[in-house]
Amino acid sequence: MACLRMVAQDFAEKELDGIEISPEVMDILEDIAMQMLSSETQLLHSKIAELQDENVNLRSNQLKQCLICQDNIAEYMWSSCCNNQTVRVGHLTACKSCADTIANGPVHFRCCPLCRASDSGFWLRVDARE
Ligand SMILES: [Zn+2]
Ligand SMILES: [Zn+2]
Repeated sequence: MACLRMVAQDFAEKELDGIEISPEVMDILEDIAMQMLSSETQLLHSKIAELQDENVNLRSNQLKQCLICQDNIAEYMWSSCCNNQTVRVGHLTACKSCADTIANGPVHFRCCPLCRASDSGFWLRVDARE
């Protein structure tokens, strides 16, 4: 903790008119400074953990799971989905691989998996992370 000692000496010279700080007082000052530093560090660490948790929650709220495989992130909505006034409120239902499976599958499966909107639809890619 040499740097703490230097800061304290510097402080004494500038602010205390060069009053000599005894080694005992210097030790106490160092102790206090250390304690302040470590409690501040702990506070910051718990703050960081808090923010990381919050970030994970925000991401999982934002990113919807694919309704079909319930594994990948849903990135596609069927173009004629009943909620398709704007892309953002449509049913985000399928991941890339499930969207491909449906698009290449039987005609009666080519629809929004949620509301079954179907006519002449196709998959629209929506960036769920926006
Ligand atoms: Zn899927
Ligand atoms: Zn739909």
